[in-house]
This record gives sequence, structure tokens and C-alpha cells, in this order.
Amino acid sequence: MTDQPSITTTKPRLVTTREQLRRELAEARSTHKTIGLVPTMGTLHAGHFSLVETAESECDFTVTTIFVNSTQFGQTEDFAGYPRELEDDLRALSRYRTDLVYAPSEAEVYRDGHSTYVEPPTAAQTLEGRCRPGHFRGVTTVVLKLLNLVGPNIAYFGQKDYQQTVVIRRMVDDLDLPVAIRVCPIVREEDGLAMGSRNQYLNSSERIQAPALSKSLKLAAELVEQGECNPAVILAQMRQVLAHAGISRVDYLAIVDPETLADVRRIDGPVMALVAAQLGKTRLIDNSRIG
Ligand code: AMP
Repeated sequence: MTDQPSITTTKPRLVTTREQLRRELAEARSTHKTIGLVPTMGTLHAGHFSLVETAESECDFTVTTIFVNSTQFGQTEDFAGYPRELEDDLRALSRYRTDLVYAPSEAEVYRDGHSTYVEPPTAAQTLEGRCRPGHFRGVTTVVLKLLNLVGPNIAYFGQKDYQQTVVIRRMVDDLDLPVAIRVCPIVREEDGLAMGSRNQYLNSSERIQAPALSKSLKLAAELVEQGECNPAVILAQMRQVLAHAGISRVDYLAIVDPETLADVRRIDGPVMALVAAQLGKTRLIDNSRIG
């Protein structure tokens, strides 16, 4: 398990304002330490901790941010009910070497009069962007602000949010931001369910249905391995796996080019398979690189 290292047991330093953050970072900067940034929305789990561990192994100074970013939630989404467990998160992080936690308030990030937003790249228009209008505008805006505040050498993101990594890489390149983006593998429960802060919303029968998402991705990989190269055939079989588990509210099933996220007509190289589905009140996403 990645959530049980034993490096330290003191809580990481917590700062909540950008002035404090800048002060804390000044020394790391003046001594030319390599700075790593791990942006999160908190309610940390083993997926987040894998990013923290990777950052710590590659950087001299690691900043984990915890901020439930209102601007990436749609009006009908779960912003108000999104789990917030700062004390537990800090306790859990004390088992890591994380040097600093930045957990600002809403008013600290979006100060009075805030009205500037990033126009996200075209990769934001499909998949999640289509289901969650405005989502990536909020994501790119907050990530750009965090990159500007922390000035990391490397920023760490999870493949769990694959489209987000494509969008952020594009933004970083388009806007000439001096940061490397690292994407870490998806951490899963034993039954294959991708870990996520929203998994705790699942009731017991939904929890039994939930691994069907990863099962459908596994089937897609198997079919490609067996020589199937027609995405339509694979998507139909994936949908059957979900239907068999009783999952009917499928937001999307897609097989796309890993860089452009455009649908592929024939599989003749690596592709990404992605799925998003609604189980009761909980929306789950998952993906896998295949081919
Ligand atoms: P979140 O707190 O959900 O916004 O996630 C913060 C970061 O952790 C994002 O880069 C996510 O992609 C990443 N992350 C979330 N869940 C997982 C997971 N199961 N495995 C790996 N990374 C994850």
C-alpha cells in the first residue's frame, strides 16, 4: 500500500494565504531547491499519496495544495457537498515528507473582484468538457494560479483525470510556462475501482457495480490484444459490461487519440479508452491506455 510509509510523524506546515506561501517558498527558492507541486482537492487517498511520494522522490521541496475549486463545478454539481477533511488530510500527510501544505479559503483564491479566467485549449471541448461545461475553464484557471504562486519545477497530476493532463500540458506549452508536468499511474482498489474522493458517496450496491468501469477497460485492452481494431465493436462490448452490472447512465465511452482526444476510426497504435458513468448520486470516471 502506498499510504503507509514511515518517514515522519509531524504534521506538515500549513499555510492559508499567498503571502505566507511566498514567504515559506522564498528560502527554498534562494537555495535553488527543486520544487514539486501536487494540486489536490483534499480528502486524500492512496491515489493522491502516490503523487506526493513521487514528488518527494524527485524534488527537494514538495508543496501539496488542498483547495476545493468552486469554479470547476457546474451549478448542479456537488461543490457544496464535496467532502472536506482538512484535519484528517494533514494527519495523513504527516506520514510523508511533504514540506508545505497550502490550503487557502475560497476568498483567498477568488478575491473580491476576481474576473480573469483561462480560455482552455480545444482538447477541453470533448468528453468531460462536453458533460461538464465550464469545468476546464475552472481547472486551468486554478492550476495556472497555483503554478504562478508556487513556481514549481515539476507539477504532478494523476492519469485518473486523463483529459485534465492533456489540457494542462497544452496550456503549459501554449502559455510557455516554465514547469514540467508529470503524470502518475492510476491507483486502484483491489477490485479495480479507481480510487477517488467521490467513491465514499457510493452506497453498498453501487460499490458492487462500480468496478464494472475498470472491467470494461480491461475488456477493451483484451479485445485489442486479440486483434480487434474497430472501436465501434469494442465500445459496444464495453457498454455491455456496464449494462450487465446495471449501469445505464453512461456519460461517455470513448476510444480516442492520446494527444488530441479525437475519436479514432481504426486502432493501429496506442489509444486511450475512457469511460464516465453516473451511479446514483456519484459520477465516476476511469481510463486506460491500450494498444
Ligand atoms: P482531486 O483531489 O480529485 O482533484 O485529485 C488531485 C490529483 O490526484 C489529480 O491530479 C488526480 O488525477 C489525482 N488522482 C486522483 N485520484 C487518483 C488515483 N486513483 N490515482 C492516481 N492519481 C489520482
